[in-house]
Amino acid sequence: MIAADAARFVLDGDRIAAGIVLAAIVAVVAWRLQMLSMTGAVAAWATGAVTAVAGWAWCVVLLTFFCSSAALSRWRRQLKARRTANVVTKMGARDAWQVAANGGVFVAMLALNLAWPRPAWGIAALGAMAAATADTWATEIGTALGRDPWSLRTRQRVVAGTSGAITTMGTAGFFVGAAVTTLAGVWTGLDRMALVAAAIGGVCGAFVDTLLGATIQERRWCTTCQLLTEQATHACGTSTTVRDGWPGMTNDLVNLACTASGALAAVVVWRWFS
Ligand SMILES: [Zn+2]
Repeated sequence: MIAADAARFVLDGDRIAAGIVLAAIVAVVAWRLQMLSMTGAVAAWATGAVTAVAGWAWCVVLLTFFCSSAALSRWRRQLKARRTANVVTKMGARDAWQVAANGGVFVAMLALNLAWPRPAWGIAALGAMAAATADTWATEIGTALGRDPWSLRTRQRVVAGTSGAITTMGTAGFFVGAAVTTLAGVWTGLDRMALVAAAIGGVCGAFVDTLLGATIQERRWCTTCQLLTEQATHACGTSTTVRDGWPGMTNDLVNLACTASGALAAVVVWRWFS
């Protein structure tokens, strides 16, 4: 009995060590491919390490988000870069803030689940990751395939990449992204009800993202080009000023709100179901 426990402990230790090494390899490769900046790679490694401690089933969820987002961001990259060049803040390598905005809530929920195991933490973690995936897929698919998006704020068509604007293809991406992440969570031990709740939570989180993007997210103005942007220094080199929205409410903070509301909505829906 004691021997079996010891063996399991060693096996567990090996699994965790292997996971932490694997997370480091993925982070370094992503950094070399310029998908992540140096700080982004460190944050991604920390995210992967905590996930490895939580177990392989959670690594599958994280890798589903990471690999699908990486693949989608490379797909039609030139076209998307051209369409969003004037608007979007951070193209190319993702920094630590972006990694934290997308993965921070997920990691926090996994850590709470390790410290104090409860199904709700797992559902919250999956809901957060479903929201991050839904939001990312919507942006990537919408920018690659959609027409010019329709702004919830101005109720007019705006430049692709504008926050708070939607396309039909992008909205389809919401649902498919949330569903795929949730399906990747089948090995986490959560029951079917919990998985459905996480998927619904993910879609809710992505809608919150769009809503905040249309309302309180800061919009900046370039006096040289006479257009709205999210960039503090516009693509043309001019420093921009906050025109409306809440100053300091950046895209990263909106993404953080997206994952946090995905987690919360997933738990609320699950409670309501059961
Ligand atoms: Zn400009």
